[in-house]
Amino acid sequence: MNAAQNVEKVIIVGSGPAGLTAAVYSSRANLKPLMIEGEEAGGQLMITSDVENYPGFAQGVTGPELMAEMRKQAERFGTRFITRNATRVDLSSRPFKVWVGDELHLGKTVIVATGASAMYLGLESERKFYNKGVSACATCDGAFFKNVEVAVVGGGDTAMEEANFLTRFASKVHIIHRRDAFRASKIMADRALKNPKIQVMWETVVEEVLGDKFVNALRIKNLKTDEVKTMPIGGLFIAIGHKPNTALFEGQLEMEESGYLVTKPKSSHTNVDGVFACGDVQDHVYRQAVTAAGSGCMAAIDAERWLEAQGE
Ligand code: NDP
Repeated sequence: MNAAQNVEKVIIVGSGPAGLTAAVYSSRANLKPLMIEGEEAGGQLMITSDVENYPGFAQGVTGPELMAEMRKQAERFGTRFITRNATRVDLSSRPFKVWVGDELHLGKTVIVATGASAMYLGLESERKFYNKGVSACATCDGAFFKNVEVAVVGGGDTAMEEANFLTRFASKVHIIHRRDAFRASKIMADRALKNPKIQVMWETVVEEVLGDKFVNALRIKNLKTDEVKTMPIGGLFIAIGHKPNTALFEGQLEMEESGYLVTKPKSSHTNVDGVFACGDVQDHVYRQAVTAAGSGCMAAIDAERWLEAQGE
C-alpha cells in the first residue's frame, strides 16, 4: 500500500441485482463507488431467460437485459467498474483492502454482494438443457410449465417448497430423491407427501437428461434395484441446494454453518464495522432478484449513514 493511494468511499464486490442496486444508490449519493463486477458479471440472472416477476416490466424482460439496464443506470451516476474477480480481501483493519490479482484497492467501506450459486447434478446433458426445460428456480420458471409433467430433484426444504409450488402449474410433479427419507422439515415433507399431484420416487437418481430442443425425458436409476428406465417429463427442477459465494471472506466475516454471511437484523451490517452484505450471499430464504435489489438499497443506505457517522 502506498501512502498516497486513493481510498474509495465504497467498494462493491459483486454485480447481480444486489450489487448494482447498491451501486445506483451509492453513486446517486455521490459516493463514487468502485464495483468489482467479476469476469462473469451480472450474477444468476445472466443465465435466466425470461423474468416475469420483476416489478416494472409488464411484458417481462430477459435476465441479461435487466442486468444490462441496471448496469447502465449505475454507470450513469458515476459507478466505476472493474470486470475482473476480487481475489483476496483483508477486512482486519481500515481502510479495507481488496485485491484484484496483484492490484490493490482500498475502501472505507465494502459492500459484499457476491451472491450464491445453485448447485447442479453435474451432468453434461443437464447443462445442455439449461433454460430449455432445466431450471434451478421454480418461483422463476414454474409458470412456463402449465399442464406439463415435471420432476424435482432433491429431498430438502427447497425441493418440497418447489414441488408444492409447481403443482399450481404442472399436471404432475415427481420428486426424485436419492435416499429413502427426506432431509426436509417434517411439516414441509408432510405437505408434499399429502399433495395428490406429487409423487415421490425414492432412492432414485437422474442419470441423463434427454430431449431434442427441449427436455422431454429423463433416464433414471433406482439405486436399490439398479433398474434403469426412461421417464417422459417436460421439465426438470434441480433443488439440491445453493452455495453462497463466500470463500473470499472465510475467517474474516461471520458466517452461518452453511456459509451464508450473517447480517444484523433489519440491516446489512456484518460483524465487521464498515462492511455490509446484501443479496443472496446473506439470504437463503427469499433469493429473488427483487429482494436482492431491495437489500442492495439497504446496504448503500447503511454504508452512507456509516460514513456520515465517521465524519465523511
Ligand atoms: P439442503 O441441503 O437442505 O437439501 C439438499 C437436498 O438435495 C438433500 O435432500 C440432498 O440429499 C439432495 N442432494 C444434494 N446433492 C445432491 C446430488 N448431487 N444429487 C441428488 N440429490 C442431492 O438444501 P435446501 O436448498 O433444501 O435447503 C437449504 C436451507 O434452506 C435449509 O436449511 C432449509 O431448511 C432452508 N430452507 C427453508 C425453507 C423454509 O423454511 N420455507 C425453504 C427452503 C429452504 P440428502 O438428503 O441425501 O443429503
